[in-house]
Amino acid sequence: MNDEINELPPKICEQCLGDKTEIRMTKISQGSECKICTLPFTLYHFKACKRNSNIVKTLICVRCAAQRNVCQCCMLDLRWHIPVQLRDHLISMVSEENIVTEEAKNDMMRRFLSLKDVKLGGAQITSDPSETDNILDRLRGILQRPGSNDEKSLSHSREAAALAKKEQDTNVINIEKYASVDISHILKKLPLSESFSNDVSTRSFFLYNVDVSIPEWKISDAISQLLNLRKLGDGNALSLIINHKAKCGGVRFQSNELGEKFASKLNETLTTPKSINRGVLRIDRSRIFVIPWTSGFSAASFGANTAENIKLSLSLNKLIQVELGVRDKQLPAISTENSKKRMKNTSKKIHKAKSKKGKPRANNLTL
Ligand SMILES: [Zn+2]
Ligand SMILES: [Zn+2]
Repeated sequence: MNDEINELPPKICEQCLGDKTEIRMTKISQGSECKICTLPFTLYHFKACKRNSNIVKTLICVRCAAQRNVCQCCMLDLRWHIPVQLRDHLISMVSEENIVTEEAKNDMMRRFLSLKDVKLGGAQITSDPSETDNILDRLRGILQRPGSNDEKSLSHSREAAALAKKEQDTNVINIEKYASVDISHILKKLPLSESFSNDVSTRSFFLYNVDVSIPEWKISDAISQLLNLRKLGDGNALSLIINHKAKCGGVRFQSNELGEKFASKLNETLTTPKSINRGVLRIDRSRIFVIPWTSGFSAASFGANTAENIKLSLSLNKLIQVELGVRDKQLPAISTENSKKRMKNTSKKIHKAKSKKGKPRANNLTL
């Protein structure tokens, strides 16, 4: 068959690849039949994580994956990691056009379609970063439109308010529901008492205060942009795990050098009432807090199940409230320039503090 195109690198999402830094993949030329177009394709299989003996393998060919912008293993959208129908539905709602990934009715047509160089349905959007940003901006516009007399936007902002209220209510319910879930073993391994500074030497960082509305790819894009990784053309420079249920995650760089560069580029810090520092990564309107994580992490670091994830998010919520303290409430709107000045001051202070008493630490964090 078309061997040349079969030699394209496989399209496999980060979730399927797992959290190992090195993956041993087995490649079998014409090893399987594509579940979509039925043509033979180059099969890849691998173990995503050591503890798990499950073998992950590619189910569809790289051409069918590219046409739909999906992962060859889980068949979810590569950018948003959601099913194709849901993706198309969301894009249709926002763009007010009917976007559908139409599958051919018979095998002949499927094979014929698979050889064409086209993007189907919502893949036209999610395979293109600028088109995706465009759609997300429109979505944001719809959600954030201030209450005007326009019927439609009024109902949209009502929806947004209802959503926020729902989240608050869920929080209250969750606190009761998950009171008995013990996550002390998880908290113990989080670097919550570490302080952030611009000259740390580590390749891993803990990220928290992650808003559920910020998709993982957006965080990954923001970090890549910060470090100019695109220009270096290095797609494997970082691996990111975001657990939206736990509202936190971790980023691991390929080298300490990149980790140091990341820390030095975060030019905003937050000093907690306990005088420890958090790096601040700004994405849209939210702030993700960053702590160096020298011991590293795995997907299990954020809880092994939904109950643990949610309990962790509740504990971190409490911590964030404590860390933001009264101080932030008194100074709600700081212009970028001011915060930069403040950052400079703080970093000087840290250096002084460091030389006197060594690393500033918080003791007995109670959550
Ligand atoms: Zn195929
Ligand atoms: Zn996948």
